[in-house]
Amino acid sequence: MTILSSPMSIYSPAPRQILQDPWLTAKGLEIQVVRDDLCHPLVNGNKWHKLKYNLRYAQEQRFQGILSFGGAFSNHLYATAMACRLHRLRCHLMVRTDQIDKHNPTLKVAQACGATLQAVDRQSYRLRHDPDYLAALQASHPDLHIVPEGGSNTLALLGVAEFAQTLPPADYISCPVGSGGTLAGLLQGVATDTHILGIAVLKGAAALKEQVMALNPEAAKQANWTIFEEFHGGGYAKFSPELWQFCQQFRARFAIPLEPVYSGKHFYALWQLVERDYFPRGSQIVMIHTGGLQGLMGLKYRDLI
Ligand SMILES: *Cc1c(COP(=O)(O)O)cnc(C)c1O
Repeated sequence: MTILSSPMSIYSPAPRQILQDPWLTAKGLEIQVVRDDLCHPLVNGNKWHKLKYNLRYAQEQRFQGILSFGGAFSNHLYATAMACRLHRLRCHLMVRTDQIDKHNPTLKVAQACGATLQAVDRQSYRLRHDPDYLAALQASHPDLHIVPEGGSNTLALLGVAEFAQTLPPADYISCPVGSGGTLAGLLQGVATDTHILGIAVLKGAAALKEQVMALNPEAAKQANWTIFEEFHGGGYAKFSPELWQFCQQFRARFAIPLEPVYSGKHFYALWQLVERDYFPRGSQIVMIHTGGLQGLMGLKYRDLI
């Protein structure tokens, strides 16, 4: 039972993989993928880094557990349930859905981890960032540390910044952007001569920029980051057959699994940027594979792939 007795001990630094490809060589580029999808067997990718200091805070402040929010197939809910189980913390999840579907593969795992699930209709779910709503929620769950949707808060940035410091030197570091915590944390942790490229996986890049600056006020003073808005492919969790085909071809070619909600959009976007000669010859590019592969189960379950 080593997993339960020392949850941190099975975290391992993400392996790195240089993409061997004649097309990239011809463009004069070196792309290294940091396989953060492999950093932990159960709580993988950026969600692990974002949760790390939230878990520690919950333990230090003597909370009994964590309360958080997400969609029914959310990577964040999955990771939070797993992490709480490993750290012997309670977990209460507010799920954006009319009714908890007992067969939903993400929620099944969360429940097996001991998380309690509460269905929240779309209208109430919109209040998830509202200070009054959160104060009332905290009052009714005084023993739980509330973590926002996607896990992005100030404590999350600490974990991501710590991870950023382990990355190889690069001219560019890229990642997908959902709630902005990962980009904000990377910006906090890397040297200012590294440019961070965020691929927005949903519409509304202007709002995402605001979110990054709200999480990391230094970001407003830094010019070394860009959020691309043209690669969302129709909106959050929407994707074309071409994108899914790209994911499958990429896996076959480089043995790197991708899903079409985050990592697929990220890699597909980078490929298009290379195609357009966005990167000067000689650039060293580090791509963060942020994980999220559990999402494939939910897409299969809904017959979307
Ligand atoms: C949540 C998630 C992201 C987005 O990270 P943010 O910090 O919310 O911007 C990216 N990739 C994967 C796989 C995710 O699950």
